[in-house]
Amino acid sequence: MRTHLTAALALLGIVTFTHAAVTDAMIEGEPKTGAEVLSWGLGTQGQRYSPLKQVNTSNVAKLSPVWAFSFGGEKQRGQESQPVIHQGRMFVTASYSRLFALDAATGKKLWKYEHRLPEGIMPCCDVVNRGAALYDNLVIFSTLDAQLIALDQATGDVVWKEKIDDYQAGYSNTSAPIIAQGLVLTGVSGGEFGVVGRVEARNAKTGQLVWVRPTVEGHMGKVFDKDGNAKDNGISGTTGKTWPGDLYKTGGAATWLGGTYDPKTGLAYFGTGNPAPWNSHLRKGDNLFSCSTVAIDVKTGQIKWHYQNTPNDGWDFDGVNEFVTYDAGNGKRLGGKADRNGFFYVIDAHTGKLENAFPFVKKITWATGVDLKTGRPNFVPENRPGDPTAGDGKKGSTVFSAPSFLGGKNQQPMAYSPDTKLFYVPANEWGMEIWNEPIAYKKGAAYLGAGFTIKTINDDHIGALRAMDPKTGKIVWEVKNGAPLWGGVMTTAGNLVFWGTPEGYLKAADARTGKVVWEFQTGSGVVAPPVTWLQNGEQYVAVVSGWGGAVPLWGGDVAKKVNYLEQGGMVWVFKLGDRPAARSTVPGVQTAQAR
Ligand code: CA
Repeated sequence: MRTHLTAALALLGIVTFTHAAVTDAMIEGEPKTGAEVLSWGLGTQGQRYSPLKQVNTSNVAKLSPVWAFSFGGEKQRGQESQPVIHQGRMFVTASYSRLFALDAATGKKLWKYEHRLPEGIMPCCDVVNRGAALYDNLVIFSTLDAQLIALDQATGDVVWKEKIDDYQAGYSNTSAPIIAQGLVLTGVSGGEFGVVGRVEARNAKTGQLVWVRPTVEGHMGKVFDKDGNAKDNGISGTTGKTWPGDLYKTGGAATWLGGTYDPKTGLAYFGTGNPAPWNSHLRKGDNLFSCSTVAIDVKTGQIKWHYQNTPNDGWDFDGVNEFVTYDAGNGKRLGGKADRNGFFYVIDAHTGKLENAFPFVKKITWATGVDLKTGRPNFVPENRPGDPTAGDGKKGSTVFSAPSFLGGKNQQPMAYSPDTKLFYVPANEWGMEIWNEPIAYKKGAAYLGAGFTIKTINDDHIGALRAMDPKTGKIVWEVKNGAPLWGGVMTTAGNLVFWGTPEGYLKAADARTGKVVWEFQTGSGVVAPPVTWLQNGEQYVAVVSGWGGAVPLWGGDVAKKVNYLEQGGMVWVFKLGDRPAARSTVPGVQTAQAR
């Protein structure tokens, strides 16, 4: 009750908060008020929808910068972080496992935590971090050496610190933790090194393990008592069923993008990455629970259901993409997922039953579609990269595949609007040449058994922000982008969709028509999702800018095409005002200056 009252008063700008601890009720109420940003996803469901509408299509042209903050140092690199904001403080993570606390009204630095990283960390895809979780008086984030750190929100002092796993075996962590029922839920990164994917639940106040659920079939789950003693909690699936021999012991299925949680179902939804190694001929079978959505009962740590997007994956189609639940009317709770493999899936959030599946990119070579009866893809066998043992033993036949392994969508999260009932998907159109090679597991070494080159498909664009109707599977509108889209999306009750581009723009479009109505040049590429909140009764918008991530490292021909983009590391914050803004490059787009 108090939460609702203070939130309501804050909406009116009447009270400034005394610093109150973040509770489960506040986190579960976040999507309704939109006053603060407490979770990755603007609510643990991950809809990235804000009910705020002070900023809307009629006045967004006046959206102007309020402050900006530099992460400084020589550590620019990719910045994929979503800030969280509570009681006038912004907590934002940066490359190389850093976290800054800033005054959300002025940008003044309050404190900084710089994690001391060891030599020899093995992040596959840049030294990124995607954000922190808030609980009680803590701000909790994960590090590149696979630790979980809880800091005091007021001081930045370490309250607890837990090791998730051994970085020398290839484990790392880049995702934002989420809070569910007083637990902090995290996954692991390291699918390219043959780690074993899993989801961990800890007491968010103490860091103590509560349960661990492996996402590779055949591994034992655990629960822990108050003294930290482990007890078996059932094997995930059945040992030996979908994996040959001992390969499940290094099976990948890394949960590297974290998860979402729906209080209405009590389930946490984690996407899982590729089975290891990439060479699919070495592991005949479906290789559960790789390339899947796994729904875990938060109370028990048991898998309630799973849906596998790409059985026996041969293309590195990590199924890590966020599962975003929504009300579909008639009491139906569905979830949407735009998978790296190019298909968009609509699934019953309670049961895992597939309701709909359709492409959200225009070229898909590995399958002709998804069979809605069986839930399985209709593979195109000749478009699977070949078995090296069928030829000279050194290299299998090369195939062209679309999407590329960087995906129809990668880490950049989509948004869902309950107003328009559309998903806003940051999609990419690209392909790859891919082939298989022999490989054996070696601790701490890349475990692929494949080679690849990323290729463009179209001359004029790779990225496309697409409004997708989950009922019909139709693209309602799209805004094309030259470089691949790598930042997340946000939509608001102001009928707006916000997203960033590697070219440096934060953009806003009309949520119903896709007409771009505002843009701002941030000075480096945007590869992070925007947020919005109320600051002293005014609606603010923020985004982190700083080009990097997987594209410059692994992007082949695309990396060359975009190698003119400069790195950075800034938070930009906006509100309505008459400060000057640079003239837009979009014909017909108003800016503060143009007015
Ligand atoms: Ca992967």
